[in-house]
Amino acid sequence: MMPAALVDLRSDTVTKPSESMRQAIYNAVVGDDVYREDPTINRLQERAAEIFEREAALFVVSGTMGNQTAIKVLTHHGQEVICEERSHIYNFEMGMVAAFSGAVTRTIHAEDGILTWDLINSHIRRRNDHRARTSLIELENTSNLAGGSVYPLATSDDIVDRAHAAGLPVHLDGARIFNASVALGKTVAQLTRKFDSVMFCLSKGLGAPVGSLLAGSKEFIEEARIVRKMLGGGMRQAGVLAAAGLIALEEGPKRLHLDHANAAFLARELAQIPGISIDPAKVVTNILFFEVIGTGLSAPEISRRLAAEGVLANSTDATVIRMVTHLDVDRAGCERALKVLREIVSPRKSLAS
Ligand SMILES: *Cc1c(COP(=O)(O)O)cnc(C)c1O
Repeated sequence: MMPAALVDLRSDTVTKPSESMRQAIYNAVVGDDVYREDPTINRLQERAAEIFEREAALFVVSGTMGNQTAIKVLTHHGQEVICEERSHIYNFEMGMVAAFSGAVTRTIHAEDGILTWDLINSHIRRRNDHRARTSLIELENTSNLAGGSVYPLATSDDIVDRAHAAGLPVHLDGARIFNASVALGKTVAQLTRKFDSVMFCLSKGLGAPVGSLLAGSKEFIEEARIVRKMLGGGMRQAGVLAAAGLIALEEGPKRLHLDHANAAFLARELAQIPGISIDPAKVVTNILFFEVIGTGLSAPEISRRLAAEGVLANSTDATVIRMVTHLDVDRAGCERALKVLREIVSPRKSLAS
């Protein structure tokens, strides 16, 4: 019997480039991008700037490179960056805020990962003879580790307005800002217009094999270009990557609602499984976390048993599993994942009884 196709719910980074992306890669017109002579990179950057209604944009290798480039431009050594406790820049970027920018992160816990000005304000350290001064605020939309939660536009606008009034820039880690845009029914330009800098990923739900972009003012992007080069991110004939990126940027957002519907479906069904706990009302984009403590099995054990049946989902600690929907998982794949999971966690009759 043919083994069933893998259902890979580990991350939306696992998507494979489509046929049309591979064609576009094959046909891409290229040049040396360090000389700014790659027409396909230039086109991608112009389109990103247009879509985000910004002066300029810069193609970077990864979201990490985009975030860390922005942080370097917007801070000095010995200063503080305020971010939410579960933020990607703090948890998943190799300590680069310290290693590269020489800054410290001041983390704040917020319900569902969604900061408010009141939460931030009491943590800001102004010019002072003793303490490292706050120089940057960072928000993440959608919040990855807080379950794909979305900033209400009024909340993020309020934070940025008040930060600016206090003389502080705000960077947005918008790795999944298109998911937020779909969830809120607002354009990415509307969601991001007040931020000083915005990073978003082509390589997540939009489906490109590689790449992220930074968007901002012309002046910011010129500084970012220099920092990108410091990080070894000056690429040459990278138009082959931008060609796939352009398709991701134009076509990717149109189908993200399907990923959200699949995540909502998974959440509703998971909530019915004895021993598993999840609040389906909190699953508003393509990421969901569920507690397995009531099943009597550890999350890593469940993850191993799922993998043995061709369903991939990572445990994030001893009792929690994360699932992420994306373009390479359809409804039938979600149904199969649920079926396998139900079999794993259902109480079996022991031979002795
Ligand atoms: C994936 C991700 C990034 C960037 O990750 P890379 O693997 O470096 O591209 C940044 N922020 C968030 C919230 C992410 O989920």
